[in-house]
Amino acid sequence: MSIKLPIYMDNHATTQVDPRVMSAMLPYFNEKFGNAASRNHSFGWAAEEAVENARGQLARLINAAPKEIVFTSGATESNNLAIKGVAEMYREKGNHIITQVTEHKAVLDTCKRLEKSGYQVTYLPVAKDGRIDPDDLRRAITPKTILIAIMYANNEIGVIQPIEEIGKIAKEKGVLFHSDAVQAMGKVPVDVNKEKIDLLAMTGHKIYGPKGCGALYVRRRNPRVQLVSIIDGGGHERGMRSGTLNVPGIVGFGKAAELCQNEMAEESKRLGGLRERLKEGIFKGLEEVYINGSMAYRLPNNLNVSFACVEGESLLMGINDVAVSSGSACTSAKMEPSYVLKALGVGEDLAHSSIRFGLGRFNTQEEVDYVIQRVVEVVNRLRELSPLYEMAKERVHLSKTN
Ligand SMILES: *Cc1c(COP(=O)(O)O)cnc(C)c1O
Repeated sequence: MSIKLPIYMDNHATTQVDPRVMSAMLPYFNEKFGNAASRNHSFGWAAEEAVENARGQLARLINAAPKEIVFTSGATESNNLAIKGVAEMYREKGNHIITQVTEHKAVLDTCKRLEKSGYQVTYLPVAKDGRIDPDDLRRAITPKTILIAIMYANNEIGVIQPIEEIGKIAKEKGVLFHSDAVQAMGKVPVDVNKEKIDLLAMTGHKIYGPKGCGALYVRRRNPRVQLVSIIDGGGHERGMRSGTLNVPGIVGFGKAAELCQNEMAEESKRLGGLRERLKEGIFKGLEEVYINGSMAYRLPNNLNVSFACVEGESLLMGINDVAVSSGSACTSAKMEPSYVLKALGVGEDLAHSSIRFGLGRFNTQEEVDYVIQRVVEVVNRLRELSPLYEMAKERVHLSKTN
């Protein structure tokens, strides 16, 4: 079988809309274009019914009740609403928030904003494997703590946090627990009741649904979580998020969640197998390759590796028919190594030589084999040109003979 180029292997950044999701959405652009808030005619009722159906599909995927799902424009908004909404609502109780250093910017920047208006934020460190120590969390909680915001799984290294233990501690101490579950949902089972999660951010476009459509789970019982809204007007979504609902987007998001629920077990097994094949192929073909983050607690579709003495950016350019990400971010003038890898204690050089592979529903074994071959070929070529690599190899050789 011949493969189609370029190959997309960057599924933590976004995913292709599943054709079944797109078919479900299409009628809601024209035939069924009603406003879900129009209570007095059938156009509105049809739209409302579709939205409520999607609410149910999403709730089932995380073991919540449909009424606990608030639709938003995406996970950036969901994280903002959860953190700012709790901060403002529970200001009388306290002003302390606990999060951790490898969160997505949607959480970190929201916390930074709150610090400017008098809140105190503790940023827990992570170990070399990318996970927080629950004992650190326990110690950080004070009588003023109103929220713990710890992501379910990381978007760069795929590392899964000890969610159930965090939930248990939060419940014990009577502190609300918010989790950004964007990368985890649909890949691993998420259960807000078993894991004692009070707020949970989700988005459509990472689970083969549309962009610009997300949701926030807000617990209604034990305890009933209250939020101050950020967007006012109209009182949609129980007053927590005003604005006319994106009906086609919501329908697609719901359908995407349903597909994940039905296919997750099998799909995660398949992707986990492909990921192992990718890892083994790379390790067999190359020396001086390092895994970033825990392999034991990791999403099945993620691989993040550093290739010593190779610039991630040069590697990306070398394999330009494969779409993956590097661990460097372009800030104003220079390349900055990923703050996530830095937090793990990965040195600057190895952070700059890291690549994130994000496998997805539409990747095949043939594609994985092609990617292995290209990566091995290009890394070898770049290393041949690298005096650093020759020196490093000699050092290794010397230390072995001594
Ligand atoms: C993509 C992502 C977000 C942002 O979601 P949007 O819907 O694109 O705003 C937040 N958190 C994590 C972990 C993500 O991967």
